[in-house]
Amino acid sequence: MTIRQAAARAQVRAALTLEDYVEGVLSGSRAMLGRTITMVESRNPRHQELAQEILLRLLPHSGKAHRIGITGVPGVGKSTFIEAFGCNLIDEGHKVAVLAVDPTSTVSGGSILGDKTRMADLSQRDEAFIRPSPSSGTLGGVTRTTRETMIVCEAAGFDVLLVETVGAGQSEVAVSDMTDFFLVLMLPGAGDELQGIKKGVLEIADMIAVNKCEGDNDLRARQAAVHYRNALKIMTPTSPNWLPPVVMCSGLHNIGLDKLWEKITEHHGIMTETGELADKRREQHIHWMWHMLEDRLMTAFRNHPRVGDQIDHVQRNVAEGHLTPTLAVQRLMQAFQS
Ligand code: GDP
Repeated sequence: MTIRQAAARAQVRAALTLEDYVEGVLSGSRAMLGRTITMVESRNPRHQELAQEILLRLLPHSGKAHRIGITGVPGVGKSTFIEAFGCNLIDEGHKVAVLAVDPTSTVSGGSILGDKTRMADLSQRDEAFIRPSPSSGTLGGVTRTTRETMIVCEAAGFDVLLVETVGAGQSEVAVSDMTDFFLVLMLPGAGDELQGIKKGVLEIADMIAVNKCEGDNDLRARQAAVHYRNALKIMTPTSPNWLPPVVMCSGLHNIGLDKLWEKITEHHGIMTETGELADKRREQHIHWMWHMLEDRLMTAFRNHPRVGDQIDHVQRNVAEGHLTPTLAVQRLMQAFQS
C-alpha cells in the first residue's frame, strides 16, 4: 500500500460515524462487523468510548442467538468438532460465529483457540465468522471483549454463537457464565474423567459429549459414557428442569452431531418456557458488571502510587511471618485510601 492509499484509508476510517458502525453491523456487513469488534477490543480510551456507544445501540438487537460454550482438554477434538458442527448448522440455514476465551493468551500473548487455520472449511463459509481470543490483558479483559463481541455478532444476525475455551477452571466458569448451554467434550477411556471431576467442570456441564466415539474407540467411549452418567447422578444439576445428558459423537466422522443439536434446542425450549433463560441472562449481566468492577478496582489498587511502593515489602513481611495478613490488608487499604 502506498502512503497516499494508507492516508486515504485512514481518512475513511476516521470519517466513520456512530451511525455508520451501527447501520453497518445491522446490515450484516462483514467489514463493519470486523471493524466494530476491533473497536471493542481496542485499549484506546477514545475507541472504548465509541465502542460503548455502539454497543448500547446494538443491545436491543442482540439476545436471539443460541449461546453455546464448549470446552475440553487440548487434543479432545474441539476444533474438528466445531468445524463439523458449524458446517452442519450452516447447511440447515444458521449463521454461526465462533469466539474464544483462551486463558493462556493473557500470558503468552498468542492464541491457538478460535484460530481460522484450525477450521479451514468453516472459515470459508460466508455464514461463518471466526474470531480468535483477544491476545492480551487479564482474563477479565478477555471475557469482557468476548461478551461484547457476542452482542455485536448477534446484532449482525448470527444465531448460533460457539464460545470455545480450554480446560482451566477459571476460564471454563467464565465461559459458562456468558453462555446458555455449556458443552464439555471428553475423550473415551479412563483418566480423563477423573480430571473432569476434579476441576469441577462436571458441575457446570449442561451436556457431556464423549468425542472420537467411532470404530475401535466405540467400546471405550461407551464405558466412559457410563462413567460420566454415574458421576453426574451425584452432582446437583445445573437446573431443576434439566438433567445433563451424556452423548457420544465423532467430530471427525460427523457422527451424533445432529442428536447433540437436538438436545441443545430441547434445552433452549425448556429454559425459555420456564423463564430460566431470561433469569440466567439477567444474572449473567449482573455478574459481568461485578466482575468488571472488581477487575477495575484491583487494577486501580495495584496502580495506586502509595500502594505500589509498599506492596512488595508488605507481601514479604506476610510471607516471613512478621505481619498477619489482616494487618497487611489494613496497611495497604490505608495507603490506598490516604
Ligand atoms: P483440539 O485441540 O481440542 O482443538 O483438538 P483437534 O480438533 O485439533 O483434534 C486433535 C486431534 O484429534 C487431531 O489429530 C484430530 O484429527 C483428532 N480428532 C479430532 N476429532 C476426532 C474424532 O472425532 N475422531 C478421531 N478418531 N480423531 C479425532
